Amino acid sequence: MQLVTRTQWGAPATTPAVDLPTARGVKVHWIGGPYSTPDHGQCAAKVWSIRAEHLADKVNDWVDIAYNFLACGHGYVFEGRGLRKQSGANGNQELNRAHYAVCAIVGTGETAGSGLLTGLRDAVDHLRANGAGAELLGHRDGYSTECPGDALYRWVHAGAPRPDGPAPADVPAGRAAPPWADYDGHPLRNFTQSDRARMWQAYMAWRGWRLTVDGRYGDASEAVCRAFQAECNAAGYPVGAVDGVVGARTWATTRSRPVSR
Ligand SMILES: [Zn+2]
Ligand SMILES: [Zn+2]
Repeated sequence: MQLVTRTQWGAPATTPAVDLPTARGVKVHWIGGPYSTPDHGQCAAKVWSIRAEHLADKVNDWVDIAYNFLACGHGYVFEGRGLRKQSGANGNQELNRAHYAVCAIVGTGETAGSGLLTGLRDAVDHLRANGAGAELLGHRDGYSTECPGDALYRWVHAGAPRPDGPAPADVPAGRAAPPWADYDGHPLRNFTQSDRARMWQAYMAWRGWRLTVDGRYGDASEAVCRAFQAECNAAGYPVGAVDGVVGARTWATTRSRPVSR
């Protein structure tokens, strides 16, 4: 884990936040709103400004930055309140005692890339090794908010797979490989599911996404698919639902959308 300690980003070394030795698990947040991930050299200043906003918030009366950890798009994990401390981010004190809080430094219109997902997963694993239980939820679970956005929320509920992790040994029960169900008449209809998955993965790798081209459409592929779908919708290449399924429109856009990354 690429940790940036409190003092490294300009906060006091210790937090006045209440101790919380254990919790049921972790909730994932995002900063949301308009934000474009800058060069990593400016990420510490962003975290500093988030803390300043939180300290100035008279409604929540926060004593420190609300999150236990924050992850930036470059894969770094910023220490917020840190380990074994109660967060202020989940909505109320009861919710704050139940889960620690990790925040994605990503804007509403941005795609969660592999760096961000790796940082978030690193932070979750770090908390799990230090008092957090296995439960992994989004801010919107149990509290009325859009946070952490649809794409990250689905990634969280897919078990927060590492973007560069090994593919599952097989397609999990109950989930179809990319069906292209509405692709009747296309030459691909005679390909096996594995061939189709491999071809889609190859296209995505060519587009610059980090995933394993192995013909297994598992959690990692599905997370990439959702992220790609969300990015397409945001960028003016509408593909419809962000559902992690390579339907006809997603497949067509995978092949035809200009590559800009
Ligand atoms: Zn949140
Ligand atoms: Zn960064």
